Amino acid sequence: MSIELTVVGCSGSYEGPGEPASAYLVTVPGKHGKPFRILMDCGSGALSNLHKVIDPSLIDIILISHLHADHFLDLAGLEVYLAYHPLVNCPTVRVFAPEGLDDRLSAATGNPDPIPPGASRAPYEFIPMSAGDSIEAGKGIITAVSVKHPVPAFGFRIEVGDSVLAYTGDTDSCEGVAALAEEADLLLCEAGYIEGRDDHFTGIHLTGKRAGILARQAGVKKLLLTHIPPWTDREVPLGEARAEFDGPLELAEALHTYTL
Ligand SMILES: [Zn+2]
Ligand SMILES: [Zn+2]
Repeated sequence: MSIELTVVGCSGSYEGPGEPASAYLVTVPGKHGKPFRILMDCGSGALSNLHKVIDPSLIDIILISHLHADHFLDLAGLEVYLAYHPLVNCPTVRVFAPEGLDDRLSAATGNPDPIPPGASRAPYEFIPMSAGDSIEAGKGIITAVSVKHPVPAFGFRIEVGDSVLAYTGDTDSCEGVAALAEEADLLLCEAGYIEGRDDHFTGIHLTGKRAGILARQAGVKKLLLTHIPPWTDREVPLGEARAEFDGPLELAEALHTYTL
């Protein structure tokens, strides 16, 4: 195993019935024979499923693609776990995110201090990201790529040896997401919109069709569609993508694991 992706939540734009919003656990080899665990986004509802896939105290780093609630809000609940769990001695976790996450989270939790009242340490160390930043993750390297969304937003390209996992975050078609996806073994790609219904929105989300074109042009080996909102029939973006991309293609499923 070089990269393992477990979908914690994949509902688009908000959590659906029993379906958390965006959150993914990525496990790569660590430097001392131990797995290195990356939580990639932690959207609304994610903490419920996160408990099913990992003891949250084992998370090594957190990546937040952008500051929309469906991608970061459950950091508020995770903060309670990390700060106050009576039995588990949790470390401070580094959180790589766009500038301003600390203030957003303070507004949500009501704790202006990095160390919550009565806690012995800060649950998080916030590290603002810039486009092109490289983040060391065990034996892997993560590159933060700027993408096209109404707020500052990043996709992540995770490389371990020859294996590449690319995650678009939220984006419309752009140069950044094309570079991000280039020859990825697995492209975890948002398809928040569908053709026709959502044509009046631009610069926000991909459709299944645009995701399929992206995968084909980037030469990816496998396409996994995600971030489909509860009001969308999931077969529609799947069909749009299938018309454009001949390779292996699936809809992301919560609590499923994909190995590269
Ligand atoms: Zn989103
Ligand atoms: Zn968004």
